[in-house]
Amino acid sequence: MNFSFSPQAEKFRAELREFVKNELPEDYISIYGDDEHYDEHWALAMDTARKLGQRGWLTISWPKQYGGMGASFEELLVFNYEVGYWGIPGAGMGVGGTAWVGPTLMIYGTEEQKRKHLPLIAEGSKDGVWCTGYSEPDSGSDLASLQTFAQRQGDKYILNGQKIWTSAAHRSRWCWLAARTDRDAPQKHRGISLFLLDMKSPGVEVRPVINILGHHHFNEIFMNNVELGPESLVGAEGQGWEVIMKALSFERSIGVRYGAKLKRILDELKGFAIQNGLLDNAQVRHILVGLDLEIKALILCSYETAWKISRGERIIYEPSRDKANLDGLVKRLARFGTELIGPYSQMLPSKRESKWHKLKGVVENLYWSGPAINTAGGTTNTMRNIVAKYGLRMSA
Ligand SMILES: Cc1cc2nc3c(=O)[nH]c(=O)nc-3n(C[C@H](O)[C@H](O)[C@H](O)COP(=O)(O)OP(=O)(O)OC[C@H]3O[C@@H](n4cnc5c(N)ncnc54)[C@H](O)[C@@H]3O)c2cc1C
Repeated sequence: MNFSFSPQAEKFRAELREFVKNELPEDYISIYGDDEHYDEHWALAMDTARKLGQRGWLTISWPKQYGGMGASFEELLVFNYEVGYWGIPGAGMGVGGTAWVGPTLMIYGTEEQKRKHLPLIAEGSKDGVWCTGYSEPDSGSDLASLQTFAQRQGDKYILNGQKIWTSAAHRSRWCWLAARTDRDAPQKHRGISLFLLDMKSPGVEVRPVINILGHHHFNEIFMNNVELGPESLVGAEGQGWEVIMKALSFERSIGVRYGAKLKRILDELKGFAIQNGLLDNAQVRHILVGLDLEIKALILCSYETAWKISRGERIIYEPSRDKANLDGLVKRLARFGTELIGPYSQMLPSKRESKWHKLKGVVENLYWSGPAINTAGGTTNTMRNIVAKYGLRMSA
């Protein structure tokens, strides 16, 4: 079995590394959700997104007519790995622009929606930045219970309700939004539709929610009599659940980037151990090797998921398997990292510029991000339920 990439894909990897060297600050290393936290991060993210867009890399695997390069599957894997490893900012176009809004719109969107939105994402425009509005104060794992209501009036809808935990809403021009359109549907998930909400619409209010690390990552969105035109609806009215499930399968398939991010942190920890003479300790060596193998396994599983998606296969449990696996691995790596760097790991994660932070605060940030990674995009319990039901065929 040969797991190496083609010469063409390796040439592309070298180009990406050259880009990182020339365009990112020296020794740049990102943390989870770094782009949207602070204004200077966001400025770097948008500047980098534009440069990636100019090269056609931001949406490398998309068809050429929508601003992509029609790149091979191998090149896509290389891109995702390098984005994760080097923490290349701006590659998401908000939260989900490149990873799930664009790909899902390509399947369910009208030609007009595709022509309007996909090129904006592909070129790294500020009007191509997206957030995702699914969760509500009383609807998370049980998403089908959501209450935000889009009431039909002629060919328009009037939207009222509240979203919460909306990552990057304060940076986004658009929201990929789930709303109920039929309160009397026989099954609650049948009454949901998917809308493209312009965040500049009158009646939309975004309020910050500061997370436990002290960063401004997510928000609440309040919608008060917001008017949505017919061009805002994705797919048919009531088809939202199907659209959301497809988008979630893309969202949970980003294991390559996450795996590569963990590999970078592990490599930094290895460097720290070497510099501080800690490799003399056999236990440190064993844990480092064990984590290295676990990260490789996660990345290989994520390659498999991405490969199946690229072949148009119907994937159900694979992204959930990868996300549940990632969650456990994040916790093990973060715990080991704190033990290795010792008391320095008690520094406040939000103050990364402090000279007392080791490895630019990535270990503290990873440690404190554990609960978020468990929960974002569906909790690990939910992922395990999916694997049990559809992967292991255990009855519900
Ligand atoms: C960092 C981060 C970013 C996020 N970004 C977004 C975003 O951009 N857009 C968005 O819409 N949402 C976002 N979310 C919200 C996220 O999708 C929800 O938090 C998640 O779906 C869980 O919902 P909940 O918080 O309501 O928890 P609940 O659903 O109330 O779950 C509480 C606990 O009960 C467990 N549980 C619930 N049901 C079951 C079950 N059937 N079996 C076993 N255990 C169960 C859960 O695993 C969890 O431990 C984000 C969350 C985080 C942490």
